[in-house]
Amino acid sequence: MTTKHLSEAEMQQFALGIGNCTTAIIDHVQSCETCRIKADTYKLIFNEIKVQPKPVFDFNLTDLVMNQLPQPKQNTSFENVVLYITAVVSILITGFAIYFFWPFLSSALTDITPIVSYLVITTLASLLVFMCIDMFAKYNKQMKILNFS
Ligand SMILES: [Zn+2]
Repeated sequence: MTTKHLSEAEMQQFALGIGNCTTAIIDHVQSCETCRIKADTYKLIFNEIKVQPKPVFDFNLTDLVMNQLPQPKQNTSFENVVLYITAVVSILITGFAIYFFWPFLSSALTDITPIVSYLVITTLASLLVFMCIDMFAKYNKQMKILNFS
């Protein structure tokens, strides 16, 4: 018999079953009041754990998860309408701008050299194209976010 008390691991080993223990452990528990109480507590805890029913979901987990997953959505007619309205409004604004500023534009074009005017037109046209692409990309991104929320 050892005078040293059992470690927590040895105590748990004893509580789980005497078959797993060395005779030294069994001897100590049988002769030591403190260790026996501790081992009994462990036994009680382990029995409680065994008695606990296995957790079972009372609902169909698969269905619940599948419903939470984002569904691939078809483009709705609403999205198309918004896109068309945006495009029409953009064209109208551009048209009105050109219409109202045409006198200034035409006089400016005749005053400055053709090469410079072509450069300006090219720059403005490419800017406009890039802005349109950017706007369309942002719109698509936001629509995707809306679809997944
Ligand atoms: Zn002891």
